[in-house]
Amino acid sequence: MASNYRNGTTKASQKTDSKPPVNSNTKPLTKPKPSLTSAAAGLRRSNPGSLSGSAAGKDDAGVLGRVRVAVRLRPRNAEELVADADFADCVELQPELKRLKLRKNNWDSDTYEFDEVLTEFASQKRVYEVVAKPVVESVLEGYNGTIMAYGQTGTGKTFTLGRLGEEDTAARGIMVRSMEDILADISPETDSVSVSYLQLYMETIQDLLNPGNDNIPIVEDPKTGDVSVPGATLVEVRDQKSFVELLRLGEAHRFAANTKLNTESSRSHAILMVHVRRSVKGRHDREVVLSSENGNTSPLIKSFRPPIVRKSKLVVVDLAGSERIDKSGSEGHTLEEAKSINLSLSALGKCINALAESSAHVPVRDSKLTRLLRDSFGGTARTSLVVTIGPSPRHRGETASTIMFGQRAMKVENMVKLKEEFDYKSLARRLDVQLDKLIAEHERQQKAFKDEVERISIEAENRIAEAERNYADALENERSKYQKDYMESIKKLEEKWVMNQKKHASDRIVVEHKDECLDKTCSASREGPVSVAEEIAEVNQLLQNEIHLRKAAEEEANNLKSQLVQLKKSEAAGNAEILKLSNMLEDEAHQKEKLEEEIAVLKNQLLQLSSEADETRRSLDRGGSGKVFTGLDSLMNQVRHPQLKDSGNEQKASIAKLFEQVGLQKILSLLESEDADIRIHAVKVVANLAAEEVNQEKIVEAGGLTSLLMLLKSSEDETIRRVAAGAIANLAMNETNQELIMAQGGISLLSMTAADAEDPQTLRMVAGAIANLCGNDKLQTKLRGEGGIKALLGMVRCGHPYVLAQVARGIANFAKCESRACSQVCHISGKTPLSRSLHLQEAL
Ligand code: ADP
Ligand code: MG
Repeated sequence: MASNYRNGTTKASQKTDSKPPVNSNTKPLTKPKPSLTSAAAGLRRSNPGSLSGSAAGKDDAGVLGRVRVAVRLRPRNAEELVADADFADCVELQPELKRLKLRKNNWDSDTYEFDEVLTEFASQKRVYEVVAKPVVESVLEGYNGTIMAYGQTGTGKTFTLGRLGEEDTAARGIMVRSMEDILADISPETDSVSVSYLQLYMETIQDLLNPGNDNIPIVEDPKTGDVSVPGATLVEVRDQKSFVELLRLGEAHRFAANTKLNTESSRSHAILMVHVRRSVKGRHDREVVLSSENGNTSPLIKSFRPPIVRKSKLVVVDLAGSERIDKSGSEGHTLEEAKSINLSLSALGKCINALAESSAHVPVRDSKLTRLLRDSFGGTARTSLVVTIGPSPRHRGETASTIMFGQRAMKVENMVKLKEEFDYKSLARRLDVQLDKLIAEHERQQKAFKDEVERISIEAENRIAEAERNYADALENERSKYQKDYMESIKKLEEKWVMNQKKHASDRIVVEHKDECLDKTCSASREGPVSVAEEIAEVNQLLQNEIHLRKAAEEEANNLKSQLVQLKKSEAAGNAEILKLSNMLEDEAHQKEKLEEEIAVLKNQLLQLSSEADETRRSLDRGGSGKVFTGLDSLMNQVRHPQLKDSGNEQKASIAKLFEQVGLQKILSLLESEDADIRIHAVKVVANLAAEEVNQEKIVEAGGLTSLLMLLKSSEDETIRRVAAGAIANLAMNETNQELIMAQGGISLLSMTAADAEDPQTLRMVAGAIANLCGNDKLQTKLRGEGGIKALLGMVRCGHPYVLAQVARGIANFAKCESRACSQVCHISGKTPLSRSLHLQEAL
């Protein structure tokens, strides 16, 4: 038989062997998929509600997980290269088949199968990933984990697990790499990592982080059987550097017993314990546990939910050399010492044997090591074992024994369980805070509630009082209204009753009278209803009448009301009218006053002017000469007599001023004044104005010509007539005015004035006026016809030279026109100048 399979494959191991193959070291390493991680994932799916400890319940069964075993071959060391130069290695590895052949002799070997076979070329990184990483990941997920190295002293246990790799990063061992992965994965705010580093030597646990602490007891939880070493120093690790420092410190303290084989090797077991504590968030399935019965989870209930925490532990064990110690004490140990040194390791071997054979009794309690590793073998942890061997055929026996240990360990089934529990402490802390908050809030709410109640009750009292008041008022109103109605009804009924009584009485008289007339046999019983019906009809009628009357009265009242309103309105309007009228009256009175004042002023001015005019005239008369037709003498004389110019100018200026101030209309109106003096002064002013050509048109437009003609006609006073005639003479200088004078019967008025005049000045004025009219061709016939020429010639009787001069001028003007007309006629009819003179004669 060339190869003998002695890998002790059991039913359980076969089952787990079907899990994903471990990568070969000849292939590039991707991320290995560790089987136990899959198992753990399966665990979460199949048993999500499981909890450790008392909270675990029946579901907390866990999942089977076999101890995984890898074998690692150390390369030949310097000594072996020399000493074993002529010999082949005692082992031959078939990593791709995960097999190891152990030579019995030159022609025979035994073949063993492992979970992983790591050759002398396997890198530290690969060893970590194959042996440790799955366990580390599992620890980070909340499971306990164990990584252990077993092997003869000098085969590389410490090399595999404990190398710090400070001088060569690639040389970092499993401890350093594990911590790197752990620190990288946890959240510093919610999770924590702390480590203890212990040494077990001769059944004594020493604290490698505190060497004085050299006999630490193991404590077991009687309920769960969990083992702990509370006496060990526990240091929280926050960064890789401090962890490496801790390892170095522990290493420095480690007791190393020299052996012949390897001075560096140790007879003690080194145990690194890494405690990982992680908070679990967002696990809704767990929240159901504490939700209320109807399925509603109120915020309050939510706050009572204890947080979930996972407390897992990674144990890395660098076992003492597995070689047997010479019981004879040849190495300087007494027999007892030798027994003690070997005790833990041999107890471990026995336990593993028992577990591998599914023995009823596992002697866990035989040693401290087995007690400490209780969870690692046959417990709830995920365990990975690396067995280290050397190549030297000289140590074939020890190598074979190591291989057998590994083979047996592969048969050990663990029941991995999630190390998860409710974090009651933090829940209690949280609830304490919550409680304090609620107490404070409650107090605040109570106060607010009290205040609100008080406010509402005051408001309610106010409302009630108001409602009561309103009700009482309404009641009183209703009561008085009904009382009034009632009294009215009573009154009406009484009136009706009285009327009815009267009616009844008169009816009775009528009935009695009828009774006498009617047949006596007629039934008296019929009379009653008839009279009652009639009575009712009567009453109805009365009532209707009453209603009509009332309506009429109401209408009347309305009418009266509207009339009153109307009256009031008209009274108001009348008042306004009266006020307006009185205002107007006041204005009028005021204006009258003003006018009177003006009149007084005008009177004075007129008096002054007329006296001045008289004065001038007298002086002129004394002086003799001057043209007549230019109107008022004074004005004429201003031109003629430069010595009088100044006074004339003054007068002119004062008249112009007066004209401006008073206005033409007002001056003309004074011509009709009852006061003769005023009339005289007014006509003088007008005459003066008429002397100015610019004023003539205005005077005629304002009716001045008519007024002047009226004065000729009606005035008794010759002075007035004289001045008026003078004014007319001035106005007659204009052709339009000449026609107007003629149209208004001026020639006959002038003729009349001439006939009545005694004063030669008057005649002079009249003659001047007629003379002016004689200059108008159109008026020739009319002048002649209405006796104008005759009157002109009649004035010759006066003999006054001024008068004669004007008459002559008039005749000359007339003759001029006559001859113009005659020449036109002669031109047509062939008449001679002789006939012209005949015409004139005719006219004369
Ligand atoms: P142990 O802890 O099992 O007694 P060590 O880890 O102390 O053994 O290793 C013994 C010696 O062998 C050390 O000098 C170590 O450097 C070396 N050694 C061990 N394993 C290897 C390896 N795989 N590659 C190279 N050198 C190794
Ligand atoms: Mg060692």
